[in-house]
Amino acid sequence: MIVIMRRSANREMVRNVCRELQAIGLKTKPIKGTSRVTIEVSGGEMPFDPEGILSRPGVEDIVRVDKPYRLVSRETSPGDTVVQVGDVAVGGRDLVVMAGPCSVESRDQCRTIAEKVARLGVKIFRAGAFKPRTSPYSFQGLGEAGLEILAGIREEFGLLLVTEAIDTDTIDLVAGYTDIIQIGSRNMQNFSLLKKAGRRNQPILLKRGMSATIEEFLMAAEYVLAEGNTNVILCERGVRTFADHTRNTLDLSAVPAVKQISHLPIIVDPSHGTGRRNQVVPMSRAAIAAGADGLLIEVHHDPVRALSDGAQSISPEMFNQLMQDVRGIGALLDRTIA
Ligand code: PEP
Ligand code: MN
Repeated sequence: MIVIMRRSANREMVRNVCRELQAIGLKTKPIKGTSRVTIEVSGGEMPFDPEGILSRPGVEDIVRVDKPYRLVSRETSPGDTVVQVGDVAVGGRDLVVMAGPCSVESRDQCRTIAEKVARLGVKIFRAGAFKPRTSPYSFQGLGEAGLEILAGIREEFGLLLVTEAIDTDTIDLVAGYTDIIQIGSRNMQNFSLLKKAGRRNQPILLKRGMSATIEEFLMAAEYVLAEGNTNVILCERGVRTFADHTRNTLDLSAVPAVKQISHLPIIVDPSHGTGRRNQVVPMSRAAIAAGADGLLIEVHHDPVRALSDGAQSISPEMFNQLMQDVRGIGALLDRTIA
């Protein structure tokens, strides 16, 4: 950490800040610049909130040099992490496309969609049984009955599953049915849920909060890793902006930004990221071009009648196009679909 003193700060103010930091076991080295003094702070684990120093007389600002995350960082683990889900590797050379409806609505609905996406090469089926809905009056998901339907899909089509756990009460139940536990955008900073997910040795799909910075996103993943579970797949799913031509603004720059800092795989969800069916295929192409390790796509055979997220669900025909485009762009980057 570096403490930047005001131009007007006198010697005594500098001395007081140094003394205060030394008193909690830190080393300080004041450096006299042309116009002001800066204090280099080192040593120790920094058990206190450094913001406190900001209120001391003569202090203008502090700059943290060390990042607040460790385990998710490439400094700790330089090579790319590959998360193994059954026989599918996420984060390696393969691109992984997970697809299915937003919600499990019925056995017939899931079977119809699973059959179509499996035929187009999908290995991981997505569908929510517990749904985190903005309105308490919207369809909340079928709960355990939905998980039972998913178990049938897994069995019949040989598909792996990703489905969401929305709270600490039901995560163990969900975990018993699924291959990947999804933690949704609204729960990205549900720290007790993250810790519980971290105590399982099961892949976690962690979606970016709709107003989370990259640092907050990585800190959320750090919670899972800190409990011992390194099988985390990150997912960019759009953030809130002023734009009204989309539901969210899909932040594709998050992909290279995360890749530079972290070894964890990152996939992109252009369905929630745009909220508009016509934007899903173009943004899928862009996501792969930007270096994403895969996609999470909402597909519905009858979107008008979907119980959730119909407006962003693409038809199986559009999904076919998406897969062809992803194959083509992937090939340019020497990546193939898992
Ligand atoms: C979902 O995947 O259906 C979902 C609710 O996503 P998000 O948490 O990104 O809104
Ligand atoms: Mn959805």
